[in-house]
Amino acid sequence: MTATFESFDELEKVAAACTACGLCEARTQVVFGVGDRHADLMFVGEGPGAEEDRQGIPFVGRAGQLLTRLVGGIGLAREQVYIANVVKCRPPNNRDPNPVEIETCSPYLEAQLSFIEPRVVVTLGNFATKLLMPTTQGITKVRGRTYPWRHGATLVPTLHPAAVLRGGGKALAQARADLVLAKRALGT
Ligand code: URA
Repeated sequence: MTATFESFDELEKVAAACTACGLCEARTQVVFGVGDRHADLMFVGEGPGAEEDRQGIPFVGRAGQLLTRLVGGIGLAREQVYIANVVKCRPPNNRDPNPVEIETCSPYLEAQLSFIEPRVVVTLGNFATKLLMPTTQGITKVRGRTYPWRHGATLVPTLHPAAVLRGGGKALAQARADLVLAKRALGT
């Protein structure tokens, strides 16, 4: 699907009714994205979990609360950034999204990126990183530095907050350090 949307509102409306892949069958609702549509900083996660599926808002569960704290750690509120996911519907039992689901959903993320035009994109974990950056290496190899991205923007790959929760102090320090890189790339 290549798609053009007149406006962000139209994009969100179309996505909310999407039945393009099998994930629509088990979802409660589409979890499109949240935050400032004019944000300089955008985060891209993997896909909604149970709490996100229930509330319709990305990153509101435990991993989300950590993400909110990490964002706060660089002096920003959640409302000042935009947060989206690779897939907009919860994969059943929190399984990984499959390649067909990722491909089918990617026009929505691409359209979000085109409307928002963030100056810095932080990819959270392997799925977002591999979708937006040409790499076959895992997140632990590619994180820790910034990458020139489309239209002069900067991409900052970092650990998924759920992996940080599992990984303890070292992972937390790495995620914090990556967000400092993102903050620096913003130049603010
Ligand atoms: N994990 C994600 O990747 N996205 C969410 O929205 C929540 C948890």
